[in-house]
Amino acid sequence: MVRQHLPRISLGTVYRNLEVLCELGEIQKLEHGGRIKRFDGNTEPHYHIRCVCCDRVDDAPFEPEIHLPNRQNGANGYKILGHRLEFVGLCPDCRTNLTAPGLNKIKHLYVPAADKPS
Ligand SMILES: [Zn+2]
Ligand SMILES: [Zn+2]
Repeated sequence: MVRQHLPRISLGTVYRNLEVLCELGEIQKLEHGGRIKRFDGNTEPHYHIRCVCCDRVDDAPFEPEIHLPNRQNGANGYKILGHRLEFVGLCPDCRTNLTAPGLNKIKHLYVPAADKPS
């Protein structure tokens, strides 16, 4: 998208600026699994879901609702500052295309019977 405005910008410059925006709290870096560095313009706490097939990431429509124990030693002496939770699944595209090339790379993939191609 940046290259539509600055055609010769390097990917390194893009990522450096994303890191700066991250330090300023304007965006957040997603500390998740997956192969690609990801940033999110939404800095509110929320969950994400990642497609195990194509690595697409979307916001997950679940409210963060983990209630932590309020005991001092509730976490082996740690003071808890937050939590991370990533949902994994198949995105709508991969779900309807179960023969997608990435799929046979995935071991132990659970495909509900209802989603198997007929
Ligand atoms: Zn996918
Ligand atoms: Zn998000």
